[in-house]
Amino acid sequence: MSATERYLKTKGAPSLAELEAVGMLPKLEDLARGACLCIECVEEIPCNPCETSCPNGAIKVGDPITNLPVIDREKCTACGLCIPSCPGLAITMKRVQGDRATIRFPWEYVPVPVVGDEVEMVDRLGNVVCPGKVIGVNAAARNDRTLVVGAEFAAEHVLSVISMKRKRS
Ligand code: SF4
Ligand code: SF4
Repeated sequence: MSATERYLKTKGAPSLAELEAVGMLPKLEDLARGACLCIECVEEIPCNPCETSCPNGAIKVGDPITNLPVIDREKCTACGLCIPSCPGLAITMKRVQGDRATIRFPWEYVPVPVVGDEVEMVDRLGNVVCPGKVIGVNAAARNDRTLVVGAEFAAEHVLSVISMKRKRS
C-alpha cells in the first residue's frame, strides 16, 4: 500500500499527493484562468450521477461504472449543475483571482448560510485552514435540499480548502 493510499485509508480523505496521482488536483494555472471544476472521487465506487447530470457531456465515467470520473475541461462551461448531483459531495468549483480564491461547494446542513456570513474554511479532514466569507447561496428546487454555497478566502489556501464551518458564537 502506498503512502498516499495509507493516508486515504487511515484518515478518510485523500491527500493532495493522492489527488495529484489520479489527476484530480487542479493546476494553479487552470484555477487562475477561470472557474475550474474539481472532482475528488478516488475510490472506484459504482456511481455516475456526475456524468448524467452534465448537459455538456463534460464528465465521463463510462463502463464499467466503477471508473473514476474524468473531466473534459474543453466541454465544461462551469455551470455548476453537477455540484449538487454528487451523493458523495465530492464536487466543487474553484477559482483564483489575484490574492483571493472562491469556491462553490455542496452544503447539506442547517441553518442555511447567509451571504456575508464570516466563516472558517476547512480542509478535507475538517481542520480550519483560514477565514472566509459566504458570497452566494444557491437553493434551487431542482437540487432537492442540497445547497451550493459560494465563499471567498485567501488564494494561498486554494488547494487545501474544500468546505467551511461556522464560527463558534
Ligand atoms: S460544471 Fe456544468 S458543464 Fe462543467 S462538468 Fe459540471 S455540469 Fe458539466
Ligand atoms: S457522482 Fe460523485 S461519488 Fe459518484 S462518481 Fe461522480 S464524483 Fe464520484
